Amino acid sequence: MAKIDNIFSRYLLNTYSRSGPIFVRGKGSWLFDEKGRGYLDLFPGWGVSILGHSYPRIVRIIYQQAGKLIHLPNNLYQKEQVLLARQIVDNSFKGKVFFANSGAEAVECAIKITRLYGAGKDKRYKIVAMKNSFHGRTFAALSATGQVKYQHPFKPLLQKFVFARFNDFSSFKSKADGAVALIIELIQGEGGVNIADKEFIRDIYAYSRKKKMLFIVDEVQTGMARTGKMFCYQHYGIVPDILLLSKGLGAGFPISAVVVAEEVSSLMKPGLHASTFGGSPLACRVAREVFKIIKEKDLVKRAEKQGDYLISQLKKTLLPLPRVKEVRGRGLMIAVELKQDSFPVFKECLKRGLIINSTHNNVLRIMPSLLVKKEELDRGVEILRTILAEL
Ligand SMILES: *Cc1c(COP(=O)(O)O)cnc(C)c1O
Repeated sequence: MAKIDNIFSRYLLNTYSRSGPIFVRGKGSWLFDEKGRGYLDLFPGWGVSILGHSYPRIVRIIYQQAGKLIHLPNNLYQKEQVLLARQIVDNSFKGKVFFANSGAEAVECAIKITRLYGAGKDKRYKIVAMKNSFHGRTFAALSATGQVKYQHPFKPLLQKFVFARFNDFSSFKSKADGAVALIIELIQGEGGVNIADKEFIRDIYAYSRKKKMLFIVDEVQTGMARTGKMFCYQHYGIVPDILLLSKGLGAGFPISAVVVAEEVSSLMKPGLHASTFGGSPLACRVAREVFKIIKEKDLVKRAEKQGDYLISQLKKTLLPLPRVKEVRGRGLMIAVELKQDSFPVFKECLKRGLIINSTHNNVLRIMPSLLVKKEELDRGVEILRTILAEL
């Protein structure tokens, strides 16, 4: 263990605290280390690997498409990009799509659009974001991220961001005067799986319509069937002006998408924005296959069903324990909030062959593959129960 730590710190920039053995292989909800020991992964790829590890159809499609065409610059035509864009629009709302590679890059594009939009609206540039939000690590995305620990070391940040309390409409109203846009995660992921109230979203949506503010929904984590709808905004009876997708979109292959409503999309003109790797035939072909698999295997329903099951099992087995405060979630995006630091519990889980996530100090986050099996969920719950009961 000490040895691998040394090698990493010798060659890699010290941006992550890493744990565990060296993983060499994955299959479904399982990861395997060099010795062949299996670990049940109920947080595959931080919400990225929605079909589990090395799903055979994804492996095959990567291989097939790579053999035809991997990359093409965006000044030339290709089919895959437009086929995927159509797939996304058909599943969301009438609009146009920009492809990039990561969540933060999608956020950047959305924020650039608010500048174009604001320039034509009496030079309004202020953006309302939420406290405890997470939108990524690039400068614009970080500027929208309402957490001191991420922002503070990198000040000065981009101007014109204000932060409202999540699920607090009066806080929102007090910040939103003269704003051009708002950006929100409907379930804050990194912030601890905080679910937006229906009334809150209804109120800020109505406000944004009245004041002609762009309503930007960051579904980098909640999108792609995760919450029991294809996109989480579909739980709320609203339609965003800009929708951001990434993590699960390529089921492990890097890709992100910015979906821009028809009325706003005309603001973008050739030369104003670009991404060298964005929308490669390979990435788009993989993401299109992800949509197909979600449809064919009815993974939207499955996420809801498995999620309801997991939440009820977690409530039944963990809530009686003194260190457990709350179990909450929607679909397969679930939190167990503790009355203590959750990091030691994450470490102990890892030792016993279970991978979950510790976030926001006292929250354990569980976001299994959408194909996770009931027995795997049962096993995870049992390991967690054993550990939490020992505290
Ligand atoms: C992970 C995440 C991001 C950032 O994505 P990167 O690919 O790491 O840049 C942005 N928004 C949300 C909601 C996320 O969960």
